[in-house]
Amino acid sequence: MRAFSYDRPDSVDAALRGVANQPGTTTEAAVKFVAGGTNLLDLMKADVMRPDRLVDISRLNLDKIEEVDGGGLRLGALARNSDTAYDARVQARYPMLSKAILAGASAQLRNMATNGGNLLQRTRCYYFYDTGTPCNKREPGTGCGALTGVNRIHAILGASDHCIAVHPSDMCVALAALEAIVRVTGPKGERTIPFADFHRLPGDTPHIDSTLAADELITAIDLPAKGFAEHSTYLKVRDRASYAFALVSVAAALELDGQTIRTARLALGGVAHKPWRDPAAEAELAGKPASLENFREASRVLLRDAKGQSHNAFKIGLAERAIVRALAEAAGVEHP
Ligand SMILES: Cc1cc2nc3c(=O)[nH]c(=O)nc-3n(C[C@H](O)[C@H](O)[C@H](O)COP(=O)(O)OP(=O)(O)OC[C@H]3O[C@@H](n4cnc5c(N)ncnc54)[C@H](O)[C@@H]3O)c2cc1C
Repeated sequence: MRAFSYDRPDSVDAALRGVANQPGTTTEAAVKFVAGGTNLLDLMKADVMRPDRLVDISRLNLDKIEEVDGGGLRLGALARNSDTAYDARVQARYPMLSKAILAGASAQLRNMATNGGNLLQRTRCYYFYDTGTPCNKREPGTGCGALTGVNRIHAILGASDHCIAVHPSDMCVALAALEAIVRVTGPKGERTIPFADFHRLPGDTPHIDSTLAADELITAIDLPAKGFAEHSTYLKVRDRASYAFALVSVAAALELDGQTIRTARLALGGVAHKPWRDPAAEAELAGKPASLENFREASRVLLRDAKGQSHNAFKIGLAERAIVRALAEAAGVEHP
């Protein structure tokens, strides 16, 4: 492990001063925040990330879960994943989110992991972790080991010739379906980022994961009032029943008038560089009966541009079946 310096500021202003004057986005920054440390410290030990300085934000007063005007909830960036998942309001009003968080990692990790850190956790692509192989995400311009290598866990949607890595988070898939808002603060003051604009597709700059600037801090994540509590679910398909990342996951949320779908939200995990949403697939369901046939049609629309690599084409059929099953579960429709 390389030498680095370490600060532990006691206020948001001091934390911002710690990362001030860095150009570019947070993934490119030489001075990094550390919260629970469950991702960043692993990456430093593996020599994948090499910050000069860590600014430890774990003691800042950003760990509350609070009501907001209009009926939503504000999840503090430093609230632990387990405290968020077991919060009685989250469980009652956003059960899909609670289920998604609890589908991730292990109890010990969720006790350390924070909400802000979860958003910025990095891909689990083997080539990203293996410093002996090329990886445009780790070392821009070196190539993509996964394209011609083992790519079983990789993207089927939104990939580029430069990167086929996927975003690994479960929590973020539910947040995408809920249309959460990320609240950040930086030298120019506060701003909000709609969840759909927070993560990026790889294009020709796959080393940049998100639109967060290097000198900005996530302070909270706002959940809108609409939580789809009655008809929603999170389904995660993985190689082991626990302690494994998603091959494919689905956050499915419906508003029903009887058996007719008024609104549908669908987000997929494990398939792209960011949680994947597609308005065309959601529009396909609106106004239609909640039936297996209509769920299958929506899954075909959502996956119309899916493209398999040499080892992961199975994900296309898997995603199709997972979407149908998740929508059926959310709607309370019997599924064979
Ligand atoms: C063995 C293992 C299995 C796992 N399995 C899963 C799984 O199945 N599903 C899943 O979703 N996750 C899984 N995880 C990932 C885990 O959820 C993340 O490591 C965790 O959420 C990261 O949170 P943290 O607070 O520890 O982040 P840190 O490691 O402290 O930070 C991660 C990144 O976020 C930045 N950061 C943190 N907080 C802020 C902030 N407030 N503002 C700006 N930048 C910030 C840091 O600079 C860093 O770049 C697993 C992790 C491990 C180690």
